[in-house]
Amino acid sequence: MISLAALLAEPSGWAPVTLVPVESQACSTLHDTVYDVVIGGAGITGLTAAIHAARRGMQVAVLEAGQPGTSASGRNSDFVIPALSRAGRPELEHAWGAARAAAFCGSLSETPNELFGFVRKEGLSCSACQNGWLQPDQLDASDPLWLTWLQALHAGEVKARIIKRDELNMLTGSTHYPAALYLPEDGQIDPLAFTRGLAATCKRLGCMLMEGCVLLDLPREQLHRHVRLETSHGPVFTCRAILATNATSCHGAGKLATAAMLFALLLASYDLPRTGAEEVLQQNVPLSDSSRDMWFFRRLDSTRLITGLLPTTSRLSRELIDITLRQRIERVFGIALARLSALWAGPIGITPRGLPRLLQLAPNVLGWTGCNGRGIARSFPMRRWLAALAADAPAESVSVPVPLQSLRRVHAPRIGVWITRKLVAAERQRRVKESRRGASVAGGHAVASTTNTP
Ligand SMILES: Cc1cc2nc3c(=O)[nH]c(=O)nc-3n(C[C@H](O)[C@H](O)[C@H](O)COP(=O)(O)OP(=O)(O)OC[C@H]3O[C@@H](n4cnc5c(N)ncnc54)[C@H](O)[C@@H]3O)c2cc1C
Repeated sequence: MISLAALLAEPSGWAPVTLVPVESQACSTLHDTVYDVVIGGAGITGLTAAIHAARRGMQVAVLEAGQPGTSASGRNSDFVIPALSRAGRPELEHAWGAARAAAFCGSLSETPNELFGFVRKEGLSCSACQNGWLQPDQLDASDPLWLTWLQALHAGEVKARIIKRDELNMLTGSTHYPAALYLPEDGQIDPLAFTRGLAATCKRLGCMLMEGCVLLDLPREQLHRHVRLETSHGPVFTCRAILATNATSCHGAGKLATAAMLFALLLASYDLPRTGAEEVLQQNVPLSDSSRDMWFFRRLDSTRLITGLLPTTSRLSRELIDITLRQRIERVFGIALARLSALWAGPIGITPRGLPRLLQLAPNVLGWTGCNGRGIARSFPMRRWLAALAADAPAESVSVPVPLQSLRRVHAPRIGVWITRKLVAAERQRRVKESRRGASVAGGHAVASTTNTP
């Protein structure tokens, strides 16, 4: 057995990229300067916001408890998907009003081109590939729900079309699904290399990036025009602070963590068999099954595939995870995988309504959370809005579409996590039973099913 906590501490399967070490004089400079903005957290959100603020001429420091990419940004499954997932355009309009919803959806729809363009312009080496993304389902291709989903995507200003089994087979080497939604502008990126590349860009632009520096306390009052932040390296003075510390925010940033429910998602990379897997995800378009028990697959390179699941308990059997993931691959692609090469987990912050949250945590201290598992694309436009707010743009302005709110804690987050896990476990059991039935009808040889699920 292995605990979820242990998997969260396992190194991410993405190859580590070495960072230039922080200069020795960094610490004294940190105390000597009054920054325009101090950003907590060197993940994709914090670093892209830092780059944007630095390009606006602001003096920026980024404080990171670990290293850039330590947390979700360096541990995720790398799909660049801006489309809204649970909350669609109508929910957004209801929550934020029509103008904000339109501005937010408009920005999200531009995100893939903007993000991949940014990677090219900055010369970041992170295997970025704008090859589309597939969202298949077991529904028959003639089911009217496909059209409803497509219309919902179009209402969110996302380019998408429905593709049927034959085309899906050509793209993925799988005939398992009757149809899928194809979002051609989406893509994938090596998240750890991307995050480390962002960190290097920050340093090049003159941002102070302090690794191993923990934000310990938020200001209780404002000192003249400045705020004083307590850190593990002593006090830091700034005009504005932004917490981009996500769902695992700790110590002084912990307030932000209370605005979302914390889940862990488990990822695994497998070696592909030497023969018989040539057609598996041959066009390198990632695939995410839209059911509650997410099934997602992506070819890493010519020899490996990445997949994963949402664990439904905190104590897990490595063997059971392995069996479950292999069964999925066999069902979808009809191949038996070779070696499990890496297994790790990462944290995800889920907000109850699936909407991102921009929060006023203290005087001149903002926080952003609620990536809901799609944070690569969602945090990218956020960088502009966070930098604009740090530069004193009026929060009410519609150019920052996410409304600035005061902190509302998620009510009973553990119950929320428990209920979600139960629902996922039930869905997983249903699929196991369904596969058994399929195997017995075919009199076939489906891999041994187990009623236990991880
Ligand atoms: C397994 C997994 C798969 C995922 N798959 C996808 C995907 O395919 N597509 C997608 O778009 N999104 C995906 N996500 C979500 C995505 O990874 C996140 O939304 C995104 O990385 C969030 O970036 P961030 O910068 O906001 O937070 P993080 O990357 O979590 O960074 C926060 C940083 O804050 C630091 N920190 C915390 N507290 C303090 C403190 N007190 N002082 C200083 N520093 C502190 C942490 O060390 C951390 O480095 C996935 C997430 C996981 C875990």
